[in-house]
Amino acid sequence: MNASPADWRAISSEAPSLGTRFRVHPQAPFIPGYEEPETVWISTPPGRVGIGPEDHRMYVVDPLIPKAPYQRPYFPPYTGDSYPPAEPGPDGHFDHIPNHTREFMAAHAFACVRRVLDICESYLGREVPWFFFPTYERLEIVPHLGWTNAQSGYGFLELGEDDSRDEPVPYALNFDVIAHETGHLVLFGTLGVPERGSPSVEYLAYHEFAADFISLIGLMHFDTALDRMLRRTKGNLFVSNELDRVAELIDEHQIRKASNSLKLSDVGREVHDLSRPFTGAMFDSLLEIFQLILLERGLASLDTRRIRSVRESLTQADVERELTGSKQDYQIRHFAVKSALQEARDIVGDAFLRSWEALSPDTVSFRYAASAIVNRVEQGRGQRFADRVHDNFVWREIL
Ligand SMILES: [Zn+2]
Repeated sequence: MNASPADWRAISSEAPSLGTRFRVHPQAPFIPGYEEPETVWISTPPGRVGIGPEDHRMYVVDPLIPKAPYQRPYFPPYTGDSYPPAEPGPDGHFDHIPNHTREFMAAHAFACVRRVLDICESYLGREVPWFFFPTYERLEIVPHLGWTNAQSGYGFLELGEDDSRDEPVPYALNFDVIAHETGHLVLFGTLGVPERGSPSVEYLAYHEFAADFISLIGLMHFDTALDRMLRRTKGNLFVSNELDRVAELIDEHQIRKASNSLKLSDVGREVHDLSRPFTGAMFDSLLEIFQLILLERGLASLDTRRIRSVRESLTQADVERELTGSKQDYQIRHFAVKSALQEARDIVGDAFLRSWEALSPDTVSFRYAASAIVNRVEQGRGQRFADRVHDNFVWREIL
């Protein structure tokens, strides 16, 4: 191809933009190691993210007066007075806003929702529609309410504050909470809303699992989070978590939550409780696939295929050998180990999000949802691990 300089200029001006820069705390800023936000890019190009922030999918509005949480028949839009919005810098980016300001909180909440949507859309390979479209074209994000909860619903995502600490911390700075609420919206938008009567308890529990797991996958897309988790455990995320031996090394909230040994017969019918064995099965699958990729690449020695269950059959000798081995020269293997974890994350993330293609909101049960995940692993590049995912669901009494 012979292109003139004018042609090249035309081509480069059409080249896809890198997106717009924001700064995000991958975990709440009171967690040691996460005090400073990380720069991230969201897919909307600079110039198309307006004052608020806002773009074609969502906008932030920060009420000046105390606003009650949305609840039928009270729905968006908020029309009262607002705090001054966050504004882009002259370059169109939002990474210049100082921490601890009202504007930073607004920009942070926006960036977390947008980033989770970007990540989910990447796995799904298409845009996730809003389930409330066309009643509302865009999601309204309310970054701060005097309320100790957070919720997403018909046209909105709104955030209160965590009052469990000495000083209340706005949920607008908590990626886990925002990603969880965005997760509900992504699942509603992709899978649809049940049409027949009231949804089953298992459907609601599956929703809680999905929201938590989207939050976990989202966390694992932050460099600082992966680096921190791996360096602290010397890459031994698998053994550390499985046996809850060095779990105190892990501060990442979604990981603590996901690392549990509950079977279906251990939990009641309360939806959050009921979701935990499903989350546990997916988390164990993720860590087991990570361990097996390390083994394939000569970076670990423990072969989980020779044990019956990762939760019961690891011996003291297995653990000691693995921990000792991983401690040697971890620093020179860090990026190889990180790449294995990213690969495991993407195998599991793909299986989880693409399994929805086989589900309908009216017939979702744990059994159905777990089978859909195993089937999807069988069809994808993680095919060789499908039996391990299946076994993890069997151990949890789901399959
Ligand atoms: Zn939830």
